Amino acid sequence: MINISDYTLNELEQYIESIGEKKFHAKQIFKWIHKIGIESFDEMTDISKSLREKLKEHTYILKLNILECQKSKKDDTIKFLIGLNDDTAIESVFMKYNHGNTICVSTQVGCKMGCKFCASTKAGYERNLTASEIEGQIWAVQKYTGERISNVVYMGIGEPLDNYDNVIKSIRNINSPEGLNIGARHISVSTCGIVPNIYKLADENIQATLSISLHATDDKTRKEIMPVANRYSIKELLEACKYYISKTGRRISFEYALIAGVNDNRETAMNLAKLLRGMIAHINLIPVNEIKNGSYKKSNESNIENFMNTLNSCGIVTTVRRELGSDIDAACGQLRQKYLNKDTIKQ
Ligand code: SF4
Repeated sequence: MINISDYTLNELEQYIESIGEKKFHAKQIFKWIHKIGIESFDEMTDISKSLREKLKEHTYILKLNILECQKSKKDDTIKFLIGLNDDTAIESVFMKYNHGNTICVSTQVGCKMGCKFCASTKAGYERNLTASEIEGQIWAVQKYTGERISNVVYMGIGEPLDNYDNVIKSIRNINSPEGLNIGARHISVSTCGIVPNIYKLADENIQATLSISLHATDDKTRKEIMPVANRYSIKELLEACKYYISKTGRRISFEYALIAGVNDNRETAMNLAKLLRGMIAHINLIPVNEIKNGSYKKSNESNIENFMNTLNSCGIVTTVRRELGSDIDAACGQLRQKYLNKDTIKQ
């Protein structure tokens, strides 16, 4: 059976023609799936019964099921554990910001990048998500909350640029005027720094925001907390970022997880300012999420404030990310980890 939700409009047109039907039906079907979010072919009221039957025979519409959710008592953040058809599970997080409802989506089942502070990588990597499994998270969460999502951040479980083709395909479908029509500027792609794919992304002509998980200002420290640094140096990473800015004109967001005693002193803040001087950049400081059995502790309030003030005084726009849903397992990978341990919390 073909997962019809995975097709781009172009691919769907080719498929529809290949089964002897008129090309224009592709746009109708695409809209039903990607704009309206229907779950059965019978809901496609402007498609003939015979075509619907043909589609049913050979294809299916992907539907993701919410297995569990945790609602924050402090704010409106909801974390979802979402089941996939092969009985694996991923996480998505719904957050309310002044600029609109935002979802953080996963891109892989597990992750192979091995960042030391991250729960998502603990159980290893299983597989890439398909484009429709990425978009399906938006549909599942919109249907559950009854609220429209206007911003998508690719920052959940997995390394988006390690699942490059499916991530790009999902962005194109989400961005399509025949689909959810979420503007590329409201889509943010995060990476731990897969340098060749940053160049590729820059050449895609997508105006998405690029978010770089930097977390250190020298290669030695970065290698200690992020194995990807063994493949690409900070210098190479920043060269790729400059290329991205030159091609897209977009400001880059640098994520910096503050870890007590590792990367949170004044000298490091000064080094960070020096590294990013002259770039159109924004720094997001994140007190590191303390994970079960992890060895890293978050920086204390005064170190966080000093770090931010040092950067701001050097002219680098820096904010501390609001810890939404801090009373639930909002850090990526923690709810899934519990699921894998069969130790889940019911809503
Ligand atoms: S931080 Fe991101 S890239 Fe690193 S292990 Fe976790 S999910 Fe993977």
